[in-house]
Amino acid sequence: MRLLVRGVSVALMNTARRIMLSEVPCMAIDEVVIIENSSIIHNEILAHRLGLIPLKTDLDSYNLPEECPCKSEFGCNLCRVALTLEVEAGENTMTVYSEALRSENPNITPISDKVPIVKMAPNQKIRLEAYARLGKGKKHAKWQPVSACAYKHLPQIKINKKKCNACGKCIEICPKRVLVKAEKGIEIQKPLDCTLCQDCVDVCPQNPPAIEVSEEENSFIFNIESTGALSVERIVLEALKILDKKYEDFLNQIAVEGQ
Ligand code: SF4
Ligand code: SF4
Ligand SMILES: [Zn+2]
Repeated sequence: MRLLVRGVSVALMNTARRIMLSEVPCMAIDEVVIIENSSIIHNEILAHRLGLIPLKTDLDSYNLPEECPCKSEFGCNLCRVALTLEVEAGENTMTVYSEALRSENPNITPISDKVPIVKMAPNQKIRLEAYARLGKGKKHAKWQPVSACAYKHLPQIKINKKKCNACGKCIEICPKRVLVKAEKGIEIQKPLDCTLCQDCVDVCPQNPPAIEVSEEENSFIFNIESTGALSVERIVLEALKILDKKYEDFLNQIAVEGQ
C-alpha cells in the first residue's frame, strides 16, 4: 500500500513505521518438537526455517502468550496453534513445501503453499509438531507483519519556464525518469517517483538552475508491504491503536505522578 500522508511531523511518521515493524503482532512458529529427522538438515535449521514461514494471522481470536489468561508456559487454544509435518521421500529426492504443514486451525496456515522447507534424499523422513504463537517483531523478525515499511518526503519540483532553454540534460540524468520533453520545454511526468537526488539541479547549465527540487514540508509518501500475515489495512489500524494506547498510558502516568 502506498499512502500519501499530509500534515504530520517526521516524529509521528517514524513512530508509526517503528510500531508496524516491531509492535503489531502476527503469528509465527515458535517451538518445534522433532520426533524424527533423518534428512541432512539439522533440527535447529529446520526449526528456524519453519519459524520464518509467514502464517495467516487471526488477531481477533488469539491472545499474545503473555496476555493470555491461561498463564501457562505451554499455552492453550487461545494462544497457541499446533501444526504437524509428516513427510517421507520415496525412491526419488523430494522438496518439502509449506503446503505439507497441517494446521489444527484451517484459518492459521502458511500464506503460500510454495515456501520450500527442506530437500530430502530417497527414504529420508521427517516427523514433527510445531507450535505457532502471536509475537512481536521487536523480539524476533519472524513476527514482523511487514516485509517493507518506509516513507520518504513528498517531492516538490519547480521548473522556471522563463529560464529553461529545454536543453534536456535534466531528463537524461534523472534515474527515475520523472521528467519528459514536452512541446513547450520540460514537463513533470511522475513526481512521486522522485528520490530528491538533486542530479537534475546539478546538471542544469543555467545559473541559478532553472529547476528546483525540494521536499514538501510535513508531507510524506508511506510504502507498506505486508508479508501476507495480515492485510495492510489491519496493520495500519493496529499500529494506530497501539499508538493511542501508548499516549493513554503516558497520560495516566502523568496523572499518578501529579497526585
Ligand atoms: S531530484 Fe533526482 S529523481 Fe528527482 S527529478 Fe531530479 S534527477 Fe530525477
Ligand atoms: S537542464 Fe535546466 S535548462 Fe536544461 S531542460 Fe532541464 S531545467 Fe531546462
Ligand atoms: Zn493461553
